[in-house]
Amino acid sequence: MKYVSTRGSAPAQNFEGVLLTGLAPDGGLYVPAELPQISAAEMESWRGLKYPDLALKIITPFVSDTIEGAELKRIIDESYAEFDHPSVAPLTMLSTNEWVLELYHGPTLAFKDFALQVLGRLLDYVLKKNDQRVVILGATSGDTGSAALEGCRHSENVDIFILHPHNRVSDVQRKQMTTVPGDNVHNLAVEGNFDDCQKIVKAAFSDQSFLANDRQLVAVNSINWARIMVQIVYYFYAALALGAPARKVSFSVPTGNFGDIYAGYLAKQMGLPIDQLIVATNKNDILHRFISANDYSIADLSHTFSPSMDILVSSNFERYLFDLFDRDGAQLTNFMEQSINNSLSVSAEQWARVKACFDSDSVDDAETCALIANVYAKSAALLDPHSAIGVQAARNCNRNQAIPMIMLATAHPAKFAAAITEAGIPAPELPPHLQDLFAREERYTVVENSLSAVTDFISNTMPS
Ligand SMILES: *Cc1c(COP(=O)(O)O)cnc(C)c1O
Repeated sequence: MKYVSTRGSAPAQNFEGVLLTGLAPDGGLYVPAELPQISAAEMESWRGLKYPDLALKIITPFVSDTIEGAELKRIIDESYAEFDHPSVAPLTMLSTNEWVLELYHGPTLAFKDFALQVLGRLLDYVLKKNDQRVVILGATSGDTGSAALEGCRHSENVDIFILHPHNRVSDVQRKQMTTVPGDNVHNLAVEGNFDDCQKIVKAAFSDQSFLANDRQLVAVNSINWARIMVQIVYYFYAALALGAPARKVSFSVPTGNFGDIYAGYLAKQMGLPIDQLIVATNKNDILHRFISANDYSIADLSHTFSPSMDILVSSNFERYLFDLFDRDGAQLTNFMEQSINNSLSVSAEQWARVKACFDSDSVDDAETCALIANVYAKSAALLDPHSAIGVQAARNCNRNQAIPMIMLATAHPAKFAAAITEAGIPAPELPPHLQDLFAREERYTVVENSLSAVTDFISNTMPS
């Protein structure tokens, strides 16, 4: 499969090329030149497959120029063996035609494990094959960091540096990152917010001269195509379980960087009959304003009970915009460059297409806690604040109660105890493998909010 850049002026790459990088050299993001189309008959033949077997079917066409079938199968099987639920992504019914897709049964209790367990193993395979060593650099609003460390730390060919916003992640999130052992693991707490971390990472990728000659940076953020690709699987898995392709389904997705819902959009482009795709945001609502009012303007950052969605600019949205601009990289480049300083809108025709594709909502902290309390009282189910936003948005946006609504539960409630106690519910316990988390020793370095502070740290730390 060939991958092209959204900015239109970088050469096409194969899967290995996009795996081992971050942004394309022209500043764009890689997307497949063409998506595989799955017929209804083929989907039908997938019904009843176990999660890893379905994943193998869906991922194979995207990676087959880089990795052969038996190796890919091993990587996928090992990745999902790390999950503590036999069905990997269980669906539970909340009420009539309302389903929760539990994506938090992986090692770090958030949906990020789905992709990062696989990404870590894919990297390990390719780096060993090439006898190559790389530096992984990523920014996290909380959950990517621990999932990336957990997925990549066993690889002998990587040094990992993860930036998180100092004092802006939950205690459990910080502990999960900073207690990971290993000489190749480095946590940096940046005195800024998540967007500052994301900017530093972007800048470091665009000028890698601070690294030794034989090293390069690899991204573990969702700008890395491999993460998006792996997330397509659970959309098919849930939809097939509820009657697709004969029956349509809808999804509501708690959204920050737009990686998760973009995978749902791709599933739809590949042929999965999805009715509504609901972008659920917290108070940081640029995507909701764009979808509902054609207003793409950057507001001030709010810190909420759902920190993994406290994001001003969603980097993966560019991948969707590329399609909205009919894959015209030059036009998109122009839009993206202007969007830094201006509030922007798209043409009436384009906005109509946006609204036909997505619904959206913004849910604040008070509504989030009320929803958590309400669901707990009615059905004894405990939702984390991110997942609660997905449920609330689904209820506000649902246009057809006869279609199953699948709401993605993106994190385990124990990860975000503050919102749960605020909702008047006793804090849930961490699962057994994390019970001693607060007793483990932490290692991290606080650095000032600047590119040079980070690149100096990396070049001083790197074994040469
Ligand atoms: C990362 C994350 C999100 C947002 O996902 P995106 O792909 O960034 O839109 C939502 N909920 C949780 C718990 C997360 O960790």
